[in-house]
Amino acid sequence: MAQGETFDLVIVGCGAAGLSAAVSFAEAEQKEGRSPRIAVLEAAPQDERGGATRWTTAGLRGTIKDGLDPFWVGLAAQLSKGLADADICSTLERETRDSLTFLTDHGVELIEHRSPIAATMQGMISLPNGGGHAIVENLARCFEATGMGSIYYETEAVRLTLSDAGRVAGVVVRGPDGLLKTLHAPSVILACGGFEGNAEMLTQYVGPKACDLRLIAPGIKYNRGAGIRMAMDIGAGTAGQFDGIHAEAVDSRTDRADAVIYGCPYGILVNAEGQRFFDEGRDTMDATFELIGYEIWRNQNQAAFFIGDRHVHDHPHLLALFDTDQPPIEADTIEELALQLGIEPDALVATIDSYNGAVQPGEFDPARLDGKCTVGIEPPKSNWAYPLDRAPFFAYPLTTAITFTYGGIKTDTQGRVLTGTGTPIPGLYAAGEIAGLFYHEYPAATSVLRAITFGRIAGAGISRSRANA
Ligand SMILES: Cc1cc2nc3c(=O)[nH]c(=O)nc-3n(C[C@H](O)[C@H](O)[C@H](O)COP(=O)(O)OP(=O)(O)OC[C@H]3O[C@@H](n4cnc5c(N)ncnc54)[C@H](O)[C@@H]3O)c2cc1C
Repeated sequence: MAQGETFDLVIVGCGAAGLSAAVSFAEAEQKEGRSPRIAVLEAAPQDERGGATRWTTAGLRGTIKDGLDPFWVGLAAQLSKGLADADICSTLERETRDSLTFLTDHGVELIEHRSPIAATMQGMISLPNGGGHAIVENLARCFEATGMGSIYYETEAVRLTLSDAGRVAGVVVRGPDGLLKTLHAPSVILACGGFEGNAEMLTQYVGPKACDLRLIAPGIKYNRGAGIRMAMDIGAGTAGQFDGIHAEAVDSRTDRADAVIYGCPYGILVNAEGQRFFDEGRDTMDATFELIGYEIWRNQNQAAFFIGDRHVHDHPHLLALFDTDQPPIEADTIEELALQLGIEPDALVATIDSYNGAVQPGEFDPARLDGKCTVGIEPPKSNWAYPLDRAPFFAYPLTTAITFTYGGIKTDTQGRVLTGTGTPIPGLYAAGEIAGLFYHEYPAATSVLRAITFGRIAGAGISRSRANA
């Protein structure tokens, strides 16, 4: 890459959104018989490429046959209290089949999966075989096979350039030599994620204690909010909740990516003092995992413990919900368990005695909100309450990790970046996590789908506008 080089399209970011855009643009151009020059910029070295996408299991909330979970658009409106852009949500719904087909057409095998536990997700989801890593590797291979461009590693976009008329005219980048270069391009797609990797922006927007949040995967450290800042510098509007994040409780003993303890509803949670602090059964796993993460981070000093017993082993599929590479901490008595966890034994015994005494009769059924609850304790447990009385007892130590940020750039359904008053900024597009959408709570398993969908739409749309120019 040389100073002053000219491309037809520069894409900032090499995750699901950037690579979907690159492949869609290149293939649309191929159909038109054109041979454009495309640059995909990746801040990471090649062996770490792919941002958050590289590290995710990539649960995709729909199937090729059925499309998006039909409840999702309503759920997104309900959780955001009407703030999530309804047109963007219905575009995602309309495009889901095509986005999933796009993946299979480009070498990603999708495995259909139905949650064996109660979930807000009503139907089947699709899981890429090999997770998000398979998405990155297959789309990068397909893009490179077109011969229309390259991925430039350790190359960070720093700012956008404008023509005299105010159209986006390119990007200033910092390469591995530390020097700045200007790349010229009539169209730029920002697909460089949120600001979860930037402690300063997290503190500015998310607030106190943001520095205590662990990153859920190493690759998200490259998502430092550069694209959001660059777009805002030239007048882009924003969307999504800037103090909102998706966060989850992970096993505090491991650095493995995505070591999420999803099983929290099927036991109890206690803090370092051995006290319960959350209604673990208040709703389904995917409706509470984020809220549990917030609580441990904000109010429990980033340390808590999941505790369960043999009841969990009676339902072997629940064991897969403890997605860590570390074994559970086990003991035959609550006192022994407490000592291993560093909790005062009398305190933990008192908590569990009081909890066990409050459990009501009924059938424990993880597949539905079973109503098997406690009475007379605070906080209550509203579902899946069973007495912890069958050894061995087991525990996982928990801390909260950030997955992504909600606040981002305002876009329309074509992926065009809009000013705060809704005017498209000529030549500028954004797709994926950088485009703000969510408020209050994350309607799960749609981030990767959204990245692929609006990456595809932006790439194909730019090609169409070149044909019409
Ligand atoms: C562990 C984990 C599990 C998850 N589980 C799920 C799930 O099951 N389902 C789901 O839908 N979502 C999930 N998510 C969220 C989802 O992975 C992301 O929201 C999605 O992959 C974002 O895609 P993206 O292309 O927008 O960004 P990313 O994949 O993060 O890509 C951003 C790219 O931009 C690059 N970059 C950043 N700044 C610059 C710069 N200045 N210049 C050049 N390059 C830059 C990065 O290096 C990276 O290549 C998970 C995320 C993680 C981390």
